[in-house]
Amino acid sequence: EAKRRGRDTWQAFNPALAQQLSDRLVLETQLRRALEQDEFHLVYQPQVDLADGSLLQVEALLRWNNRLLGPMRPDLFIPVAETTGDIVRIGAWVIDEACRQLTAWRAQGLSLRRVAVNVSYRQFLNEDFEQHVLGALRRYGLDGDSLELEITERVLLEDDGDVVDTLQHLKSQGVAISIDDFGEGYSSLGYLKRLPIDALKIGHHFMREVPASATDAVICRSIIQIAHSLGLTVVGEGVEHDAQRRFLLEHGADLAQGYLFARPLPASELAAYRPPGETA
Ligand code: C2E
Ligand code: MG
Ligand code: MG
Ligand code: MG
Repeated sequence: EAKRRGRDTWQAFNPALAQQLSDRLVLETQLRRALEQDEFHLVYQPQVDLADGSLLQVEALLRWNNRLLGPMRPDLFIPVAETTGDIVRIGAWVIDEACRQLTAWRAQGLSLRRVAVNVSYRQFLNEDFEQHVLGALRRYGLDGDSLELEITERVLLEDDGDVVDTLQHLKSQGVAISIDDFGEGYSSLGYLKRLPIDALKIGHHFMREVPASATDAVICRSIIQIAHSLGLTVVGEGVEHDAQRRFLLEHGADLAQGYLFARPLPASELAAYRPPGETA
């Protein structure tokens, strides 16, 4: 028995685990300095109006190119930044940069309804969040409805009691709110009634096999119905094929986003973007 425990103890020092821990430490250290090192930039993915294919707005997506680690996917580093708390500073930068870029595009004559940014639950629940958002809008002279915040169901799961209040304040300033990857979280539908939100986004998870998968098709149709019966806009994400676009259009979804229209683009390329179906 003692011998077995001894052996188990040894396993705690296994080199693979040690390597993982040191990789993680490098990642955390690099991430902490990334803002000061100017290693972040945003790319922008068009969201088109399904009815006429026109470019309505864009979603800002964060990119990190670290000098040691190279380009890193947000799926990989955002969870780390959430754990360390760095997401609060990084997220504030994202909002500021997206607002700055929208103002610059408009000055060039590009008409965009708004820019959407992703907001981590950890950032949203920070007590200074609302002030950060309003501060950025003021700094660039933007109306609230020039900005959309994409939150996830995780925000509601971690609700400390202030979430509805914060959303209502932002909403009263005109800021649009959407639920990203709707249906992939863990919350009940009941909260939809209580929240001042504008849109639901159907993520890749449910879009991927539409219309071939009957189950996914039913889920997508249900999300569209729920949204519309609550007066919300529906955005289909991860639209890669025309069959997905047609499915969304047939079932009354409002906006679509995905490689079929465009990959996330650097700001300069976005300004030159013309939707494939647009005739004007
Ligand atoms: P998301 O907000 O759901 O963003 C959509 C993701 O799908 C993006 O991945 C986008 O590049 C990708 N995508 C777009 N069209 C297609 C398509 O047709 N097919 C497929 N397969 N994928 C498509 P990305 O940029 O790697 O971002 C991943 C996730 O990281 C985002 O998912 C979001 O949750 C998070 N994220 C990105 N930027 C930020 C940020 O500034 N702040 C926070 N908190 N999270 C962010
Ligand atoms: Mg998003
Ligand atoms: Mg999404
Ligand atoms: Mg996501």
